[in-house]
Amino acid sequence: MEKPIPYGRQHITDEDVAAVVETLKSDYLTQGPKIKEFEEKFAHYVDARYAVAVNNATAGLHLAAKALGVAPGQRVIVTPITFAASANCIRYCGAEVEFCDIDPQTFLMDETRIIEILESHPKGTYAGMVIVDFAGYPHNLEVFREIADRFGLWIIEDACHAPGAWWTDSKGERHKTGNSRFADCTVFSFHPVKHIATGEGGMVTTNNPELFRLLSLYRTHGITRDPELLDHNDGGWYYEMQELGFNYRLTDIQAALGISQLSRAAAGLERRQEIARRYDEGLADLPMVKTPTRSQEILHAFHLYVIRVPRRKELYDFLRAEGILAQVHYVPVHLMPYYRRRGWKDGDMPEAEKYYSECLSLPMYPTLTDEQQDYVIAKIHEFYKLNGK
Ligand SMILES: *Cc1c(COP(=O)(O)O)cnc(C)c1O
Repeated sequence: MEKPIPYGRQHITDEDVAAVVETLKSDYLTQGPKIKEFEEKFAHYVDARYAVAVNNATAGLHLAAKALGVAPGQRVIVTPITFAASANCIRYCGAEVEFCDIDPQTFLMDETRIIEILESHPKGTYAGMVIVDFAGYPHNLEVFREIADRFGLWIIEDACHAPGAWWTDSKGERHKTGNSRFADCTVFSFHPVKHIATGEGGMVTTNNPELFRLLSLYRTHGITRDPELLDHNDGGWYYEMQELGFNYRLTDIQAALGISQLSRAAAGLERRQEIARRYDEGLADLPMVKTPTRSQEILHAFHLYVIRVPRRKELYDFLRAEGILAQVHYVPVHLMPYYRRRGWKDGDMPEAEKYYSECLSLPMYPTLTDEQQDYVIAKIHEFYKLNGK
């Protein structure tokens, strides 16, 4: 048995390597044709109109918040069971984060709870919401768009866990996560533990031409050379910095890897479904182990396979000693020292905190072998045989 077994890892093939080498030998290492090609192919993959490639999803979240006009004095509602970046992007823009507790079945932001928050404050208190397709379970965006419209909010969907997922609307139509027919902007990550790996990298999708223009502008210092957008034109060299932007560009080297990875994304997603089914079956006889909620209405992208268990820390330590690097996703963001200093404390998000006390992410990535997975399942059985419930 090859050890240790991580909770997630990239899958790099000879074709990926060849694509990167080809770009290294080409005229463009950055700001070249691979970026546009990756953006177009990714937009097609998730059914969105526009896609903007960025150097990581955190930068993508920042651009989305900036393009939506997040500014000091505003308040934005964010789920606490996510990676810190989902909330931090709001702080980068100087606005305040209001956490909203999760649904104990799906671990996504609880729609009842967010309505309670919105109804108990004057309209206009909140500018928007950042929702997260946690573990790969896609949000029903029809429901959240209706809430957002009722209270005048925008939606950033952090879909770092969910490229390729879909959900079903009330008319029975399926929507790919990130198709941006409901969310204003959707953000994806290409960190190596995610579905598509470019080292560092991310993508923002939108269907809104004005948001697309702003995302593109802020990605490159707020600078444009487009003759149609210039105030005036001094000549062929002339460009203008029209807004205060950043350098959040992806390189062509990374885009080439992304394009090659994207061509296998559907196969990887398929394999993740299979691994999830094998865990469901392999753990079904352990009553103390709660496996993830399933539904016919969605395609779960299974970035993570999260079980909830008693004696989580002991199980974590036991698996670790056996070469299985299970992980905990996530320490609730409102309990991070930085957010505690902004007034959040234990007990503020009871469902999120309960979830955190029992969750464990098991190894889940396309190249995980059946043999490795059987070993993980056997070790969990062994732990509960030794320790009872
Ligand atoms: C990975 C991740 C991010 C950050 O992605 P980077 O590309 O590493 O910046 C943000 N949100 C969620 C939910 C993530 O899983």
